Formats: sequence, structure tokens, C-alpha cells
Amino acid sequence: MTSKPQTSTAGRSCRGLNTSGAKCRAHAASNGWCALHDPAMAARRAAGRRLGGERHFTPHAADASRLPAEGIRSVADVLALLDYTLAEVLAIDNGIARGRILVAIGGAYLEALSVGEFETRLMALEQIIAQRGGGIRDAQRKAIAAA
Ligand SMILES: [Zn+2]
Repeated sequence: MTSKPQTSTAGRSCRGLNTSGAKCRAHAASNGWCALHDPAMAARRAAGRRLGGERHFTPHAADASRLPAEGIRSVADVLALLDYTLAEVLAIDNGIARGRILVAIGGAYLEALSVGEFETRLMALEQIIAQRGGGIRDAQRKAIAAA
């Protein structure tokens, strides 16, 4: 029985190396390379990676330059942060996580607006007391004496 020289590539494995340096065990095409290691396909693989990255990239929907530069130090700063976050979240794909974030943002708006309203009312009361010539402690003393 004579054996012919093997010209078939069937069963041959790739000439490439994997990331750990071991021989690639993928099936090789007729040129001796698998699709992941074929040097002739490097440009196509790079284009595919680039396209994949672009598909998973969510661009910013809000303008970060409108956020307070010195950080969050007031109710107005909190509201600016919430406005930014809301615009960013509205731009992402719908889903359970997005819904939860929107509900949390709604709660944070309510809390910030409530604190802001109390702050405004307290400042108005302090101004009235100051215009009547007494400080807060004087007003408290008078209120206790009147009771
Ligand atoms: Zn390979």
C-alpha cells in the first residue's frame, strides 16, 4: 500500500498562537491560518472591533459643562445634577434598570425641592424676625413669655 503525500488541509490546526502563547487549536483554512489569526484578515478584524465598539457606545445626552464646577454645595447644585442625570438616563435604552433610576431620580427631585422650599421659607421668617429688631433667640424668648 502506497501513501500519497498529504495535500489536504483537513484536520490541520492553525499556525497562530493564542494570547497565552500556546498554539492555536482552531481549524486552519487552506493557508494554514484560522479566521482569528489570518494576517490577511487583520484589517477586517480591526474594522469589526471598531464597529462593535461604536455599537456599544452611548453618547452623552447632557452637557456636563453645566454642572457646578465647585461640586454640589446647595439645593440648586443638586437640582443641576439631577437635571444632568435625568437627561443622560433618558438617552439610554429602555429597561428595568433605567426605570429604577428614573424612579430614584424622581424621589431625589422631590426631596431636593422640599428642602429648597423649607430653606426659602426659613430665610423669609428669619428676615421678618430681623426686621422686627430681634434675633431668633429674642423671638423664641418672647414666644415662651407670651405662652
Ligand atoms: Zn488560530
